[in-house]
Amino acid sequence: MTDGRVLVLNSGSSSVKYQLVDPADRSRPAAGIVERIGERGSRLRHTTADGARRTREEPMPDHRAALKAMAAELAADGLGFDSPGLVAVGHRVVHGGRRFTEPTLVTPEVEAEIERLVPLAPLHNPANLTGIRTARTLNPNLPQVAVFDTAFHTTIPEAAARYAIDTGVADAHRIRRYGFHGTSHAHVSRACARLLGRDPSEVNVIVLHLGNGASASAVAGGRCVETSMGLTPLEGLVMGTRSGDVDPAVIFHLSRVAGMSVDAIDDLLNRRSGLIGLCGDNDMREIRRRIDEGGEDGERARLAFEVYVHRLRKYVGAYTAVLGRVDAIAFTAGVGENSAEVRAAVVAGMDEGLGPVVDPERNARREDGPRIISPEYARVAVAVVPTDEELEIAVQAHALVTG
Ligand code: ADP
Repeated sequence: MTDGRVLVLNSGSSSVKYQLVDPADRSRPAAGIVERIGERGSRLRHTTADGARRTREEPMPDHRAALKAMAAELAADGLGFDSPGLVAVGHRVVHGGRRFTEPTLVTPEVEAEIERLVPLAPLHNPANLTGIRTARTLNPNLPQVAVFDTAFHTTIPEAAARYAIDTGVADAHRIRRYGFHGTSHAHVSRACARLLGRDPSEVNVIVLHLGNGASASAVAGGRCVETSMGLTPLEGLVMGTRSGDVDPAVIFHLSRVAGMSVDAIDDLLNRRSGLIGLCGDNDMREIRRRIDEGGEDGERARLAFEVYVHRLRKYVGAYTAVLGRVDAIAFTAGVGENSAEVRAAVVAGMDEGLGPVVDPERNARREDGPRIISPEYARVAVAVVPTDEELEIAVQAHALVTG
């Protein structure tokens, strides 16, 4: 018998991903995604505990229609919004500003604060709020818990969070480094400590979250002290479609010399840069395939790979200095969990100076769970630690409502 399940919702502007999670045994009695909400061809894909798949293709003009369709699928297996086993809805909320440092029970005041943060996350926070408000209409008695992507980074010291721009301007517009992917960085840094058989308070970890979006963090004794994403998720590492760090003057230059509008530059740096901008592909598997095929096209892919890896190496070096002592480097998310080539290239040649080194055989092995891929003698452990943001949100929301 479960002691309570949490429905985890990740609401985007035109999609909602959901997982019903039982934190006690980490099982997923149901999961799915609704796509193309408010567009033609909206559809829901649902997976049950035994792996059966069901698809609904019907008009879903708004989030309410989408969540009602999801609720109907859950109810068909006795797991609906009124089922006694459901204790909370856990919402991934992208921006919590400086205020939200913990998972938070949603009250009208909390909702107003999330709304006040919309200028800092104009695409994400409105969609997250719609998810919260819509879920509440389906069962007003069910606690709604917001888990913020920024929360884990609120411990970053002022020296790392401040941009060196006029303080008055920065404060007036809340400009500072907030960081994102926090739920993943928290989960992976703790899981990495467990993998080493140590308490998180004893270890310093560099976490490299390499998905389509990518970010690095430096975690000292369980507290985040530095992260690569900033005011928005654009800063830092080279990503699937985002540039990461560029000289800010690139923007003035494009405006003055190329006559591009702010929106066009925003689109360029967020959606047409990074790996896709460098070589036309943002999937690391495809990039590796092109490199293996060789030729001119392979060279373009190789350059993209090298720019991607070079940026990562710079961050590992910088975060080593920030932490003073590094116990482990943890790779996670789609690229980090699957690309042995990226992992090997990131730490190549560091064993003399900085310490991390991978064992080629351990690195190449395909396994599911967390694992160490450095040799026994390594001063700095290198680990692959699968991320699980939904589980983390469910655990936190469950603890809050049953606590
Ligand atoms: P997000 O959650 O940010 O959308 P993921 O963490 O799922 O992204 O990562 C997606 C990326 O992971 C893909 O774009 C691809 O580059 C990479 N990826 C997935 N599987 C593999 C694999 N087997 N080998 C190399 N890269 C992979």
